[in-house]
Amino acid sequence: MTTETKALDTAQLQALDRDHHLHPFTDFKQLGEEGARVIERAEGVYLWDRDGNKMLDAMAGLWCVNVGYGRKELADVAFQQMQQLPYYNAFFKTTHEPVVELSRLIAEVTPEHMQHVFFCGSGSEANDTVLRMVRRYWDVKGKPNKKTFISRVNAYHGSTVAGASLGGMKYMHEHGDLPIPGIVHIPQPYWYGEGGDQTPEEFGLQAARALEAKILELGEDNVGAFIAEPIQGAGGVIVPPDSYWPEIKRILDKYEILLVVDEVICGFGRTGEWFGSDYYGLKPDLMPIAKGLSSGYLPIGGVVVGDRVAKTLIDEGGEFNHGYTYSGHPVAAAVAAANIRILQNEGLVDRVRDETGPYLQQRWRELADHPLVGEVRGVGLVGALELTNDKAARTRFDDKGKAGTVCRDFCFNNGLIMRATGDTMIISPPLVISKEEIDELIEKAKYCLDLTAKALGVI
Ligand SMILES: *Cc1c(COP(=O)(O)O)cnc(C)c1O
Repeated sequence: MTTETKALDTAQLQALDRDHHLHPFTDFKQLGEEGARVIERAEGVYLWDRDGNKMLDAMAGLWCVNVGYGRKELADVAFQQMQQLPYYNAFFKTTHEPVVELSRLIAEVTPEHMQHVFFCGSGSEANDTVLRMVRRYWDVKGKPNKKTFISRVNAYHGSTVAGASLGGMKYMHEHGDLPIPGIVHIPQPYWYGEGGDQTPEEFGLQAARALEAKILELGEDNVGAFIAEPIQGAGGVIVPPDSYWPEIKRILDKYEILLVVDEVICGFGRTGEWFGSDYYGLKPDLMPIAKGLSSGYLPIGGVVVGDRVAKTLIDEGGEFNHGYTYSGHPVAAAVAAANIRILQNEGLVDRVRDETGPYLQQRWRELADHPLVGEVRGVGLVGALELTNDKAARTRFDDKGKAGTVCRDFCFNNGLIMRATGDTMIISPPLVISKEEIDELIEKAKYCLDLTAKALGVI
C-alpha cells in the first residue's frame, strides 16, 4: 500500500475499488453499490477488517490457509529467497534448489507410487495441465482415440477453459460456451439433494454405476480419464456415501482408464490424512494440487504424477510441449516447501485426524438439532450443513439460496466467516484451529442460525 492509499478511509478505498477493480465471481454492479469488505490483517485463525472488526475465518481464506495466518517463518523464507534468486525458470534444462527440495518433499508425502510433480501457478492451471497430459499419455501409448474425460455434475476444477469445462457448474459453462468438446459429466453422489427415497448406500452405488454406464456408452477405447474431487468442495462439501468410492474403484479396475483425483482442497491434511486419496484408499494416476500446498501464502499449484503415466512420458514421450513461465517459481517453491515442513514438524495432519477433526465433527453435529438444519456432514476439518424448511422432506425454502445468503450475512456481521453455496453452509478452517476456537465457531454458528431462523419466520 502506498502512503496515499493508507491515508484513505474505508469508504474512499471502497470507491476506488468499485472504480477500478473487477472482482472474481462477483456481480460488479451490485458490489459497487454495496461496497466491498476491506480486510486488513490476520493472525492464526482470525481476520480483522479495516474498521477493526475481528472475525474467525472458518473458511481458511478460500480453503487454503492450512497452517494459519501470520507465519513469520514463511515470510522470512520468501524474503531470503527473493534476495538470493527471485526468479528463474525451469525451461531449457535448468533447475534450482527450492524446486528440487519441494519436488522431493511432495514425493515424500504423496502416495508411494507418485514420485514426480509438474508445477504451475494454480489449481486451474493444474487441471489444464491434466487435460493435456492425459491426452498426451494416450497418444504416446498409441491410443489416440482415448481422449474423453468423464467428470461429474457440480464438480469444481477451476475457472480456466479446461478447468471450468472439467468442472460441472452449469452457471460457469454458460459464460464462455463451455464445456469444450471431449468432456462429459455424470451425476454427483449428493444424497441429501438428489437421493430421494433411496438410502445413502443405495444412492451412492447408483451414482457410481453411472460411471460404468457412461464408459459403456462411449466405449472404453474412447475414454481417457475419470476426474473427481474426493469430497466435492465448492459444490457444497459433498461427502459421498460410503458405498461410492469402493464401487468407483471396482469400475476403474475393470477398464483401462486413468484416475485423476483433484486434491486441491482435500490435499495437505484437510481430511486428517495427507490426501483425500489416502482417506478413501484411492490410487490416482494424476493429482492436481494447489491451495494448501503453500497455505495460500504465494500462488503455486502442481500435478503429481503416478508411475504409470510418468514412466511412459519419460521413457517414450520425448518433449512435452507444455509449461508456464512460473512453473516451479523459486520463491513460491521455497515457501511451499517451508509450509510442508511446518505441517510435518508440528504434526498438524495427525492432529486433525486424532484431535481437532473428531472434536469439530462431534460439535458440528450438535447443530443437527437446530430447526433450520436438515443434515450435518463432514470429515476432518471440512464440513457442511443443509438449511431446510422441512427436515423430513429435505425441501428448500422457496426462494432458493436466500436462506444461505441470510445466514452467511449474519455470520459476517457477528464475527464468523462461513460460506454459503445455495442453502448449504460450509466450513473449512485452518488446520491450526484449537478446541477453544472450535467451541467459538460452534457457538457463533448456533447464534447465527437462530438469527436466520427468526429472519425467515421459522421460530
Ligand atoms: C479451488 C479449486 C481449483 C482451482 O484452483 P485455483 O487455484 O483457484 O485455480 C481446482 N480444483 C478444486 C477442487 C478447487 O477447490
